[in-house]
Amino acid sequence: MLLTISTTYQPATELGYLLHKNPTRLQTFDLNFGQAHVFYPEASEQRCMAALLLDVDAVQLVRGKGNARSSLDQYVNDRPYVASSFLSVALADVFGTALNGRCKQRPELVVTPLPLQAQIAVIPCPEGEEWLHRLFEPLGYSVEAVQHPLDELHPEWGMSPYFTLTLRAECRLSELLTHLYVLIPVLDNSKHYWIGDDEVNKLLTRGQGWLEKHPERRRIAYNYLRHKKSLTRDALSRLVPEEEAPEATDEASELEVVDEQTGEEGASTEAQSATAEAARVVQEKKEKRRSLHEQRLQAALEVVRQRGAKRVLDLGCGEGRLLRMLLQEKSIEHILGLDVSYRALELAQKRLHLDRMPARQRERLTLVHGALTYRDQRLEGYDAACVIEVIEHMDQPRLRAFERVLFEFAHPETVVITTPNAEYNVKFETLDAGTFRHQDHRFEWTREQFQIWSRQLAERFGYQVQFAPIGPEDAEVGAPSQMGIFSRHQSLTQ
Ligand code: SAH
Repeated sequence: MLLTISTTYQPATELGYLLHKNPTRLQTFDLNFGQAHVFYPEASEQRCMAALLLDVDAVQLVRGKGNARSSLDQYVNDRPYVASSFLSVALADVFGTALNGRCKQRPELVVTPLPLQAQIAVIPCPEGEEWLHRLFEPLGYSVEAVQHPLDELHPEWGMSPYFTLTLRAECRLSELLTHLYVLIPVLDNSKHYWIGDDEVNKLLTRGQGWLEKHPERRRIAYNYLRHKKSLTRDALSRLVPEEEAPEATDEASELEVVDEQTGEEGASTEAQSATAEAARVVQEKKEKRRSLHEQRLQAALEVVRQRGAKRVLDLGCGEGRLLRMLLQEKSIEHILGLDVSYRALELAQKRLHLDRMPARQRERLTLVHGALTYRDQRLEGYDAACVIEVIEHMDQPRLRAFERVLFEFAHPETVVITTPNAEYNVKFETLDAGTFRHQDHRFEWTREQFQIWSRQLAERFGYQVQFAPIGPEDAEVGAPSQMGIFSRHQSLTQ
């Protein structure tokens, strides 16, 4: 069973760092169902390919189970030759660090979308080629599937259920590995796979950020959980509910989950049979919660307006919700949106209808694909910068670079930074203690932590800072989000 992962990112050999496997060595790992070998058929500056060869030992599999009764099909089956849940287990064992999106030596590459290709030599898909497209295309992959005949010498026997599958996308390596990790077992209908107690949690953890939006999420959960209906129900009920707003960003979907977790939905059904007034109050409550993200954007916009900023940066602009609001402000002359995710920028471009925008309006906006941890001269000469729910997506050691990029080099007069208030997490009932609101969050700070960091920043770079809560404020734990407004000292600007 062979899986290859290749890139044309340059220098392509950086793939070795990301996978934590040296391109010049063949490495072998012992697993409890066989061996995994990692090697690089190709490793040049232009193109690098890593191969994971899985050698499943069918005999050991049967013996390992302590199974006294053996039949031929226990020894002779497709397990050694096709991608199955064993490949997922091997992926997690052999490429675990990369799967979790960590790389000490190349942290910036972990968050950078790279041109990637994965090829699975043989994968079973008795449902037909269409199913492969339906599984992978919503995740942004171009899918190439070649179906193999049962026997090349006997074409009259027809086609086998086996395909060679090639996926291509510009995405983070950890995303590609995560999608493979979850979706390979979804295609594996074999009974040879056992299912552990924590499979639901595994699915939800690995599925965070994409599974809830996947149009085939029901079937994915059902197949992944080995057709166990109760587990599937459990998993689906913990995913984002159907009525998620189509425009919702990842951050907004967190709120949708919270809605479900806090039982607001149930409250609203009861309210329908109660008085109209009660229903209205419940509805208002729900809307308030849903619009938390809207409130963050409004709060940032308000600061930009008050300062009379004419040139505005939206750093980590995502899918462009703030960009749209800024474009509507006639007094703003130029806006620059930057994001490390190429896919987010493509979405922004689509949502803002840039292709149909009148030339004069179009000229007011620049979209830049870049990372906030690198100095970029294009960010200089702006009056204000908004950094909305972005810092928590950066590894803490990288914040030092971000601080200099923004405050020392870009050096705008005003900076607005928002980030979750970790203290408020106790209000989200099913968010386990110590876990974050979103899979991609690298940290979440209390009000004190954010304020200490901000004050030190202000001190170092000659700014003053004020703080404001965003969202409904709780007497004890504060508001769900917090905002720091930095103003450059006048004396230093002259
Ligand atoms: N500001 C937007 C999006 C918030 S989600 C909004 O409020 O709607 C966080 C965004 O930060 C994502 O789009 C992510 O791609 C981006 N991001 C994370 N790390 C980044 C980095 N180092 N440089 C630039 N963008 C980054």
